[in-house]
Amino acid sequence: MAIRTVRTVGDAVLEKKCREVKEMTPRIEELIDDMFDTMYENNGVGLAAPQVGVLRRVIVVDTGDDPRVLINPVIVESDGEQTGEEGCLSYPGKYGIVTRPMHVVVEGLDREMNPVRMEAEGLLARDFCHEIDHLDGKMYMELVEGDIKDAAAEAAAAEETDE
Ligand code: ZN
Repeated sequence: MAIRTVRTVGDAVLEKKCREVKEMTPRIEELIDDMFDTMYENNGVGLAAPQVGVLRRVIVVDTGDDPRVLINPVIVESDGEQTGEEGCLSYPGKYGIVTRPMHVVVEGLDREMNPVRMEAEGLLARDFCHEIDHLDGKMYMELVEGDIKDAAAEAAAAEETDE
């Protein structure tokens, strides 16, 4: 297991469409382990394979209690709406307001390549939408309502006001 470098905005790999995984291989196993390590190291709640430079349809998510990997994930149902802050490890220090479905049903394969179906609400639903978008070369910035905000600049500004 190892921590991989997270690719950031401007890297062409983030704009490409990923290929499906047809069979589990030692390489994909290693990719999944490394994606979990890389996500936790960066305090993320989700990571998609292209973010570590691999154009395969693999995502990992963990919103705090339940690590999951999903291979070839597809959103098969979505309803409701939630509007809230969203950021991305590939665009460090920034965030914006994005509207996503409140509830999604996702189908794909687990680590053993068995079909799985997962229901997600709230943050986990947002997480799935965000990571699955990465597999098609899409990032949240194109969905942001209003300005993209800079967390570091805001923290600096807040500090100045404190003095
Ligand atoms: Zn992201």
